[in-house]
Amino acid sequence: MVDTREDRAIALDGIPDPALRRDDFLIPPAVGGSFPLTAYLAGNSLGLQPRATRAELMADLDAWEQYGVHGHLEADRPWFPYHEELRDPAARLVGALPREVVIMNSLTVNLHLLLASFYRPTPIRHRIVIEDRAFSSDSYAVRSHVAFRGHDPDTAVLRLRPRPGEDVLRTEDVIATLNDHAHSIAVVMIGGVNYFSGEVMDIPVITAAGHEIGAVVGWDLAHAAGNIPLRLHDWDVDFAAWCSYKYLNAGPGAVAGAFVHERHLDDPTLPRLEGWWSTDPATRFEMHPESEPQASADAWSLSNPPIMAMGPVRTSLQIFDDVGMDALRDRSLRLTAYLRELLTDLADRGSLEIVTPPEDDRHGAQISVRVAVDADNLTDRLSDNWGVVADDRRPDIVRLAPAPLYCTFHDCWRAAEAMSQELTGESLG
Ligand SMILES: *Cc1c(COP(=O)(O)O)cnc(C)c1O
Repeated sequence: MVDTREDRAIALDGIPDPALRRDDFLIPPAVGGSFPLTAYLAGNSLGLQPRATRAELMADLDAWEQYGVHGHLEADRPWFPYHEELRDPAARLVGALPREVVIMNSLTVNLHLLLASFYRPTPIRHRIVIEDRAFSSDSYAVRSHVAFRGHDPDTAVLRLRPRPGEDVLRTEDVIATLNDHAHSIAVVMIGGVNYFSGEVMDIPVITAAGHEIGAVVGWDLAHAAGNIPLRLHDWDVDFAAWCSYKYLNAGPGAVAGAFVHERHLDDPTLPRLEGWWSTDPATRFEMHPESEPQASADAWSLSNPPIMAMGPVRTSLQIFDDVGMDALRDRSLRLTAYLRELLTDLADRGSLEIVTPPEDDRHGAQISVRVAVDADNLTDRLSDNWGVVADDRRPDIVRLAPAPLYCTFHDCWRAAEAMSQELTGESLG
């Protein structure tokens, strides 16, 4: 029997957990229901604001006020090397060497810059593999690259589909597709954690399988960064990019990240789109007509970074550094296991179907469920009647993501209880 009592959630929250940093975050007030604050289970879409972010932003504004142009070198946190300060914590977050990462641009822009380097089609080897359920932006990005190089997106983009009647990809099927098209695949570019199903892909195994057939393998880590532990360097990933506003809590449209494996950094044959931020900072202001990039992911950056948007990323990475991905993942698994237990009670009563795989190594903080009612309307009612913030993917998926830094067991209980009330008119069993 599942213990669905609210008291159990309260008891679980009573156990001290250093990975819970709720007090460091601003939790939005609830618009409905009897609790003052939301149960915010949408951190996979837009993470909440850390309390420290405002002061961080103000400090950068103050420096601009005080120093004007001299802030580039004289501000307390000078702007010229600002992004270099983010390199070490970002590298720790994704399991990379510092020179393999750079914080810049937005996610889709970074995917384009990386594809410009790593998608080098030949008449035979010209295909890009993505998931059929890739986030739309990724699909548009690879289709446009293929078209840009004169190939037909409808045939050159291979889309990985789950088996009929299934919602998630099986690793063996992914590998079989790679092997079936071994000679025509130039790039494999998949989401590390799928935004729709919440499934975690086997990044090291698929990366190795891609290399086996001679392809370059890149990962979109939008839903993976800050969610699951990553070892990009050791997994031999060629390139990766992620955004900073989902699990990383750096605010809407926050500056994103990119990774290029060390083994590509010294390769003079690799083409790259460049700007003045690509060149070695030691000689940048000599304004040479040719760039002299360092052997670092910085070589992919183009422009001077948006300083007013960098502070929130700094704050975010600081929190992840303090907590550590292992402790955070431990808490995350306990939260999702609890939420899943409660949702299973509803699944057993036929009210919903859980789409996200149950195995620890196959899911992150998100549980996606399929409902028999209009999902958009359901998430509205969860918010209006219960103060539970979840989101839906048309037509019938509701995504619940207890982000472990600020979500509690009680938030999970509230979400499941609200789902139960809205779907069955009764409390959890
Ligand atoms: C959130 C997300 C995006 C969004 O792209 P932006 O360039 O940040 O607007 C792209 N791809 C995936 C897989 C995502 O989850």
